[in-house]
Amino acid sequence: MDVLEAIGRIRRGEALPGDLESILSATDGDAEAAFSEARRARDAEFGRRAFLYGFVYFSTHCRNDCAFCYFRRSSGLPRYRKSADEVLSLSASLKDAGVNLVDLTMGEDPVMCADGHREAIGLVRRVKEEVGTAVMASPGAMSEQSFADLAEAGADWFACYQETYDRGLFSRLRLGQSFDHRMDQRAWARKAGMLAEDGIMVGIGESVEGRAESLRMMGGQGCEQIRAMTFIPQEGTPMAGSAPPGFGAELLAIAAMRIMFPDRLIPASLDVEGIAGLRARLDAGANVVTSIVPPRMDLAGVAQHELDIENGNRSVRHVAEMLDEMGMRAATDAEYGAALSRLRSRRGRL
Ligand code: SF4
Repeated sequence: MDVLEAIGRIRRGEALPGDLESILSATDGDAEAAFSEARRARDAEFGRRAFLYGFVYFSTHCRNDCAFCYFRRSSGLPRYRKSADEVLSLSASLKDAGVNLVDLTMGEDPVMCADGHREAIGLVRRVKEEVGTAVMASPGAMSEQSFADLAEAGADWFACYQETYDRGLFSRLRLGQSFDHRMDQRAWARKAGMLAEDGIMVGIGESVEGRAESLRMMGGQGCEQIRAMTFIPQEGTPMAGSAPPGFGAELLAIAAMRIMFPDRLIPASLDVEGIAGLRARLDAGANVVTSIVPPRMDLAGVAQHELDIENGNRSVRHVAEMLDEMGMRAATDAEYGAALSRLRSRRGRL
């Protein structure tokens, strides 16, 4: 199948069976054509600006035992839970450094989840009120009743990744968890008035057809931010011996998402390949740099729990330098606010 023709059909809303799969399987010149089309679509929608997200992983405790996760319940690792003062100080330092949003992420920490996620929601409220930044809450799966409280506390975004839309694969990855309950998370978040992010993992055992179906489902739900991240085998997990899949499939997934859903926010995560992989992800059509972490703050990442953190390469300054080299720049808070207003105004039409 001709990849350029497939891209054209997808952009006109006339996709044929196999069009998306042909982008996800593209090589050499076809892959470059997909990246080029994705950049064109991104620049037309957002300009040559990237939004910067800081990352505060404030609790590595978790009640779940996901097969792929370094911090799974049974890993026996030392864990931390940051105090409210530490979370506020980290968030303020990220805001001062120039991020547009702070992503408050935790494992499903029983202390934070208790009593309708009271502690976690309280932290979101304090960061909103005392730091005054846009906030994404990534607390894992919650009960439906907690969403109104989270929205009322001021969360702009709620993030919860399905990881895959293949139910069989899901059950082997997110052991003992409900596929449908996780599906409900983004719908409940949006119903409560928040923006929502979904994500999938690439190279974790899915076929190209399965990946294509996950992308269609993820975008079809209407989430305003969607992401694909390469699976990184983690030591101490049942998947530690899996062959690392390489990053090419993730780049094609980013390009495919941009071509299918040009008006969504699509992250380039520093948590997969560090700063070295940023340019390729932006060149594939991403427009958000996520997992910016200040150095010397004793904070873990998720996929790569130490990569580029202590050397400062995941700092705003370093990211801004790279954007500059690419003829891009970091968005201002006003530009980010305007983008969120546009996304909110399109609610129901994405
Ligand atoms: S992926 Fe999230 S929910 Fe699953 S074990 Fe890790 S921290 Fe817990």
